[in-house]
Amino acid sequence: MEERSKALSDRDFLMINSFEVTGSEGMFNRDHVLAWNVRDPFVGDDMDELAPEEVWESPANPAGTGALYPENITRWVRYIHENGGIAVHAHTSGTTNQVYGVDCIEVFNLSHVKDVAFYATMLGYPEDLAYCLGLTFNNFALYGERDLSIPVDFPGMGYIPLSNALYYATLGFSGVGEILGSPVAPLHSWDDLLMMYINGEMCKPVWGVANSDAHNTYNIEGHVFTGGTGDT
Ligand SMILES: [Zn+2]
Repeated sequence: MEERSKALSDRDFLMINSFEVTGSEGMFNRDHVLAWNVRDPFVGDDMDELAPEEVWESPANPAGTGALYPENITRWVRYIHENGGIAVHAHTSGTTNQVYGVDCIEVFNLSHVKDVAFYATMLGYPEDLAYCLGLTFNNFALYGERDLSIPVDFPGMGYIPLSNALYYATLGFSGVGEILGSPVAPLHSWDDLLMMYINGEMCKPVWGVANSDAHNTYNIEGHVFTGGTGDT
């Protein structure tokens, strides 16, 4: 651990140097992976200042079926592990995958809940309902795999398949739905990863964490310490 972090840590508070590898910003495949305990944020020669997401890109996937290049998320994780770090798949909205090899998956993120609620508010949802929608998307990470063809009651459209609802829910603001498409893949989940461990398909469990999603430490308006269930 770096000396400065050690000095800031005590029995009740552990400070770990980290950063967030930031790929696709999609609502349903936001490919962000935390690199806990990795001191060097650059791959290869530090003079080139190339972050992992620049070397192994992860652009938005128009089909909405998860990471466009899943092998690159795996490469990020390998990079994190090679540098003695712990890899956390952050705010997944449920789209994560065993092949990434992450050690933890974020199962609560207040910032992501607020992002979804903001989109919903732009679509005309009342504030409390918009927040509920944000929590629903967040909970995709928690519960079992979903059938995206299940009918859901969408305002103004009646009952439509969940995949279409996800598409329409993000279409209204900046055409996000058009960028993402209507997801066709089932949503993977932390629950699935835990079951793989229970069933002997994985040699270690993937832990759940809650985060503040403070990407930008230089931003004094950042979300540090505003997480609802305790920050990590
Ligand atoms: Zn993030």
